[in-house]
Amino acid sequence: MDFNEYQKLAGRTAMYAKSDKEFILMYLCMGIAGESGEIIEKVKKTIRNDAGIITEEKKEAIQKEIGDVLWYLSQLAVVLEIPFDDVAAGNIKKLAERAERGVIKSEGDVR
Ligand SMILES: [Mg+2]
Repeated sequence: MDFNEYQKLAGRTAMYAKSDKEFILMYLCMGIAGESGEIIEKVKKTIRNDAGIITEEKKEAIQKEIGDVLWYLSQLAVVLEIPFDDVAAGNIKKLAERAERGVIKSEGDVR
């Protein structure tokens, strides 16, 4: 499945309580933060309770949360009229350019 196809299929379940763009942008950003937090919690509890050993069961649970983050990201891109393929390709291009210039480990959004 490519990113644009995923974005389109994910959009089938996009339902918002309000239709104004500001609300939807806020809702999606909150979703990204919330689902990211769910990943963090699972990893935290693995470190706290299981000596950092990630079982297959835990891995599957984290995978589902990664999918939840992906859903929100894909729909944020929809609202901003950004094809999801462009997000993925743009990120790879940016990282490749940084690697080429030897600035992967530096700081700052624009390197
Ligand atoms: Mg979740």
